[in-house]
Amino acid sequence: MIRENVQEILRELPEGVELVGAAKTRTPEEVLEAIEAGLRVVGQNYVQEAERVFEIVGRRARWHMIGHLQRNKAKKAVQIFDMIETVDSVRLAEALDRACATAGRPPISVLVEVNSGEEEQKAGVMPGRVASLVREISSLENIRVEGLMTMGPFAGDPEEARPYFRVTRQIFDALKDEGIPGVDMRYLSMGMSNSYRVALEEGANLVRIGTKIFGERRYG
Ligand SMILES: *Cc1c(COP(=O)(O)O)cnc(C)c1O
Repeated sequence: MIRENVQEILRELPEGVELVGAAKTRTPEEVLEAIEAGLRVVGQNYVQEAERVFEIVGRRARWHMIGHLQRNKAKKAVQIFDMIETVDSVRLAEALDRACATAGRPPISVLVEVNSGEEEQKAGVMPGRVASLVREISSLENIRVEGLMTMGPFAGDPEEARPYFRVTRQIFDALKDEGIPGVDMRYLSMGMSNSYRVALEEGANLVRIGTKIFGERRYG
């Protein structure tokens, strides 16, 4: 089923939209099946889990960190990931910058995670603070700010996610227009299995899909 699911989603996505396979709890074999069907980007939520899957899958796909990243995991993260979608503080950006320099790797791509629902205790930067964070981290030499990511509050009805996607898109457009040196606003990562169609309508060009590719999660 994984093969058919990936192919069906890829057929549906408009040109220029990249599918991120949200692979938490999935085995390397499941991830490889998705890659063979055409998936090009694997999303992981935890560095340790990513390491285990990466050992088998390696660079047959690109790797995106889509879960909250702790600063003390930055060193390991830059060994695996091509993009960190969840930067939400200057200190995390600085830790990634240093880790890339130490590892001698090229600059890592990052997205700033927006807490578009303005929920206490939720990851991400409040909408009103996104622009200043982007400006602050734009001069770090070993990271490249390339866009924004948001989850939005959990909702059963995908239409309920639309206002949060829209807010994120507005911040994205404003930052793009501002033309901050060193910042290349190209990616807007929004939408999951139940909400990606709404996210596409609101301008997403990265969609993070798990269940619709791999089936219901068995645990985690
Ligand atoms: C799990 C996850 C997804 C995908 O969720 P599904 O509902 O399984 O498609 C997307 N983004 C993040 C950050 C996730 O943790």
